[in-house]
Amino acid sequence: MQGDLFQTLFDAVPFGVYIVDPDDYSIVYMNDHFRPLLEGAVQPLLCHRVFYGQDRVCEHCRIDPLLSTQKEGQTLRYEVFNEMDNRWYQIQDRLIRWPDGRLLKCAVAMDIGDLKATQNRLSEVHAELAIKNRDLKVLSEMDTLTRLANRGRMDGLLRAELDRIKRYGGTFSVLMIDADHFKRVNDTYGHATGDTVLQSIAATLSEAIRTSDSAARWGGEEFLILAPQIGDKQAAELAQRLCEGVRSAPYPYGLKQTISVGVATYRSGESIERLLARADEQLYVAKASGRDRVESAAAHPKKGV
Ligand code: GH3
Ligand code: MG
Ligand code: MG
Repeated sequence: MQGDLFQTLFDAVPFGVYIVDPDDYSIVYMNDHFRPLLEGAVQPLLCHRVFYGQDRVCEHCRIDPLLSTQKEGQTLRYEVFNEMDNRWYQIQDRLIRWPDGRLLKCAVAMDIGDLKATQNRLSEVHAELAIKNRDLKVLSEMDTLTRLANRGRMDGLLRAELDRIKRYGGTFSVLMIDADHFKRVNDTYGHATGDTVLQSIAATLSEAIRTSDSAARWGGEEFLILAPQIGDKQAAELAQRLCEGVRSAPYPYGLKQTISVGVATYRSGESIERLLARADEQLYVAKASGRDRVESAAAHPKKGV
């Protein structure tokens, strides 16, 4: 009576339950869930034959570890891909004592194919999201017209450079660059040509600097170069090269374009704001002195400067 009740209950559960004799892999019991597998099944009913369609013991068979490591009542859980129906299953094995005294393996097999498919899709979505996030970060730090770093990105680079100097010593310089008489370009040739000229200046700057230097679009027609490890003399030389590069580059309608550059080299203890203000002051001097030129603030000012 009780046996019939358990039989009915096990047949009602929505997953497979079966019991195997570890000595010969014979199936001692299986619930209704597996009934379709019995059609045409070869006797004796062995677990690897019935559930996995194999003539030999399955490679993933956990009967030995179950016997050697699990105590009665403990559960061994694992996932298996079944090539018979191309689906994933979670298997829960445990040892049970059969009424005749034998220690048998009782397995509960749950179809987790849909769960796996969802997990896989989720992993794919996560990977796609990581790529999109990376692209977004690049875009959020880039000036769309010139494809140089934008001001926010340069701000971070400057602060990182200052931290590096404070920790390891050394120096660095900044070059504040402004296109000369740029309003005239727009007024004469139109805004679109002005944009092309800005792109061309940006290309000249990025080609002329070292890979360890960084160039950014600082504002409308202003650019900033961060040159690590470079003192005031080398920085002024770099600025001269940039001036020459921009002056000699070709532009639409054969128009002429120049830049003015203010250079400042880091002075021990000063803030980024102060360093930039000094570069800006030098840029102002360059503009006032006739443009298309470089002005530089010494890293170690004379007394009273
Ligand atoms: P100066 O030599 O004193 O720097 O003269 P300037 O004409 O370059 O300076 P001003 O500040 O008077 O004008 C800057 C011009 O740059 C005006 C502005 O419209 C132009 N500009 C700023 N951003 C852009 C841009 O993205 N595209 C274009 N085409 N023009 C821009
Ligand atoms: Mg300007
Ligand atoms: Mg200008």
